[in-house]
Amino acid sequence: MRSPREVAVVGAGLVGCLAACYLARRGYEVTLYERRPDPRHAAAERGRSINLAISERGIDALRRVGLDEAVLKAALPMPGRMMHAPDGTLSFQPYSADGRRAINSISRAELNRTLLEAALGMPGVRAFFEHRLTGLDVDSGRMDFATPGGAVSRTAPVVLGADGAYSAVRARLQSLPGFDFSQDYLDYGYKELTIPARDGEFALDPGALHIWPRGQAMMIALPNPDRSFTCTLFWPKSGPGSFAELDTAERFAEFFAAHYADAHALMPDLADDYAHNPIGHLVTMRTDPWQVRGARAAVGLLGDAAHAIVPFYGQGANCGFEDCVELDRCLAETGDDFPEALARYGARRKEHADTIAELALANFVEMRDKVASRSFLLQKRVEHGLERLLPGRYVSRYELVSFSTVPYADVQRRIAR
Ligand code: FAD
Repeated sequence: MRSPREVAVVGAGLVGCLAACYLARRGYEVTLYERRPDPRHAAAERGRSINLAISERGIDALRRVGLDEAVLKAALPMPGRMMHAPDGTLSFQPYSADGRRAINSISRAELNRTLLEAALGMPGVRAFFEHRLTGLDVDSGRMDFATPGGAVSRTAPVVLGADGAYSAVRARLQSLPGFDFSQDYLDYGYKELTIPARDGEFALDPGALHIWPRGQAMMIALPNPDRSFTCTLFWPKSGPGSFAELDTAERFAEFFAAHYADAHALMPDLADDYAHNPIGHLVTMRTDPWQVRGARAAVGLLGDAAHAIVPFYGQGANCGFEDCVELDRCLAETGDDFPEALARYGARRKEHADTIAELALANFVEMRDKVASRSFLLQKRVEHGLERLLPGRYVSRYELVSFSTVPYADVQRRIAR
């Protein structure tokens, strides 16, 4: 039997890299296997979630391994949302009662690079790129990979699947008896567009997450350090005002200019972005259990591989980072009995991942529709008033989710109370 202090992490994305840092700190020898080329030398993929918002849960997980400052130095804080009405009227709404707490816009590629470099800088961590997992034997921990040089096999006593929503590790577990899995696609897709810098400056206020709520659809924009904004259109896949209907440059340009006029004026590359950036899917995936104990190996799932959620609460990566914290805690509690720690970790995290999945779906309706209404703005003002009146006793759901580490299901129970 190989050393039980050896762990294979499949997927060197955000969660896989952070997991490697946590495990290396506990003295494990960690091997990361990543399908893509080394991101330190490769360009980012076009139109694939260029930036994302990191909030307290993610920052807390980074802080525990001393990476919060390195990550946040490249972040742009967004202390509120800026709503863009169809006539161009702007209304700003702070996320917190004191107006100071912010979520942070971060480049996905930059974040991935920082985490990968941190992991590889720790003793015992190494990475193999262009290694795509194609097969896994749960009993022995044997992994098969397709590489540019041909097929290779490796074995590890612990295999962690951090290989994202379409996880190959999970696919293998799904074929085992007693393993539940479900996926629900929204009838919406997303497409990324760009608002470039104007005369070297941000074309919109960089201190906000911008939203163009349009009832059944919406666009959001997050600032980037190069003074551009990455916009994401969330549109129905079919029907009126959908990607399917607006399938020519002319139809799209006419529709976009009519409904997103203020943004349209700031987007010289709009036609090219729309034509060439892919339409992404929005899916919720639920898995149970998150780990399987084989005869000579243990296999577990982390991040999107265990719980892919829609992006409307900005919590997918934050939640995946929390997985790393909980697994580390369970390893400490069990004296590094990895199979037992994985079982404990999965049992604890599941209800919280299920809760944020539901909250994220509900927040889509809020963002695309409710934020535009007067009653919603009034409700937020009342919430913030209550927070100031009853400090610490009344805290809104948004604040508990984004600015605390209260477990997601406990947030729901507290709000219900
Ligand atoms: P991934 O980031 O998907 O990484 C998986 C890694 O595994 C990749 O590097 C992949 O190449 C590799 N891999 C896949 N298959 C294999 C294989 N067979 N063999 C080897 N390697 C493999 N979250 C937030 O917290 N805040 C946000 O604001 C936010 N915005 C989002 C906006 C959009 C449009 C989308 C789609 C998502 C957003 N998310 C956000 C969610 C966030 O992107 C994910 O939760 C996060 O990337 C999950 O990290 P991960 O490491 O689990 O998976």
